[in-house]
Amino acid sequence: VERELSKKETLELRQKHIGESCKLFFKADPIKIVRASGQYMYDEQDRPYLDCINNVCHVGHCHPHVAEAACNQIRVLNTNNRFLHDNIALLAKRITDTLPGNLNVVYLTNSGSEATDLAIRLAKHHTKGTEMITLDHAYHGHVMSAMDISPYKLRKNKDGLHLKPDYVHIVPCPDSYRGKYTTKDFTESQISQKYADEIGDVIKKVQAEGKQLSFYIAESMQSCGGQIIYPEGYLQKVAKYVHDAGGVMVMDEVQVGFGRVGTHYWAFQPQGVIPDIVTMGKPMGNGHPVSAVVTTKEISASFEGNGMSYFNTYGGNPVSCAVALAVLDVIEKENLISNAKMLGDYWKNKLISLMDKFPIIGNVRGNGLFIGIDLVKDRETREPAIQEADQILHRMKEEYILLSTDGPYENVLKIKPPLCFTKENVDHFCSKLEQVLLERENNNKDVQDTVQHLVDCVEFNNKNNNSSAFVRGYSDLEIGLKTSDAEVIPRGMVPV
Ligand code: PMP
Repeated sequence: VERELSKKETLELRQKHIGESCKLFFKADPIKIVRASGQYMYDEQDRPYLDCINNVCHVGHCHPHVAEAACNQIRVLNTNNRFLHDNIALLAKRITDTLPGNLNVVYLTNSGSEATDLAIRLAKHHTKGTEMITLDHAYHGHVMSAMDISPYKLRKNKDGLHLKPDYVHIVPCPDSYRGKYTTKDFTESQISQKYADEIGDVIKKVQAEGKQLSFYIAESMQSCGGQIIYPEGYLQKVAKYVHDAGGVMVMDEVQVGFGRVGTHYWAFQPQGVIPDIVTMGKPMGNGHPVSAVVTTKEISASFEGNGMSYFNTYGGNPVSCAVALAVLDVIEKENLISNAKMLGDYWKNKLISLMDKFPIIGNVRGNGLFIGIDLVKDRETREPAIQEADQILHRMKEEYILLSTDGPYENVLKIKPPLCFTKENVDHFCSKLEQVLLERENNNKDVQDTVQHLVDCVEFNNKNNNSSAFVRGYSDLEIGLKTSDAEVIPRGMVPV
């Protein structure tokens, strides 16, 4: 066994041999995690971090039942799905039992991106359509076909080599807080209608060009877009437009599925729709690569009818299926769905009550253990507090709490922990957040006092020495004092 590397050595080796576009969290001071358990991750000095973002390790990091299922199966058999095996059949049955309607045919894949790619193929063969509708800020995976429908990534493509294909139509994300139609001007039901009408408009346009719609795809709640909960009735209204045009509804449950919403197994269910195709991944294997596409017999038959067989070397292998079955066991045995509901409500209410003290919290939204805290500079204008969100994220990390930021402006604190989170964890999180926010306010007050003091000094000096220095813009990082040599005086070093 090779000796364990020091953190510095790991970092150097990684920088040398791992592609630069594979970014680290907290890149100025990355965390080296060596083990994890439940909702905690431990670094090389065995310091525990409370994990508020790992929706992949859904039932808790390294859950013993899941680990045992993987070990037991890998010792006995691992092969492809062209041989009959119980695990794939049992898993397909267990998954379809959780789904409504006629969603009873399962294809097993290995990642969310593969699931998206297959969903696109199924939709195309079934509808014979070419046109695809996707939400702004959406992310559906890293393979080329998924990138095509992922404005979140396409927009960051600086060399312009991956352009949005003409058959992809981007519609606004139904964000009622800072989207195109908001609660400032409209009621919830007007908002859902207006966003759904955007889909109707695209359909009219493509039909006028003699083209056929293939599908509409969206996450059931948009995670990358900044933890967006769609206005009530939105997906039902969209489904009507899409189905009337002969298209299919694809719901991406890769991040939000498997009970995270707390009231249902699937996040599209509170919206009262039944999609035609569902993709799932991340939480399905609790960290092990396994994903799936579920659809109807009809759509599956259209795919089969195109004459191509579907073979995926690892998709549906007995080990991955054993892992996914174990995840389903834990969700049920540990009542994780009701835990998500109870804790999600509790957490959201606590955050909402912090709004009384901290105007920087513009909006708290969520469903179960999927919560977003939208930080603003001003509640009236809803201007995003981008730098502040980043600072809070880093301060929380110093308090051993892992969060991330997201949304088009990266100003939304994302909360999506493993479902084994506890009430004590929520209390701890909220008291640390309160402490960090208070600190910021005190710091701001410090800065204001310092600046006022500086202004007084400069004015006094100007008056007595007939000079014309003035204080220019300031932040909590530095204060600029414009004198003859344009000196910048760091905070705390203001001359008295
Ligand atoms: N869909 C969504 C909504 C995702 O968040 C992701 C991954 N972040 C994917 C698809 C792609 O999944 P994977 O990284 O497993 O390929």
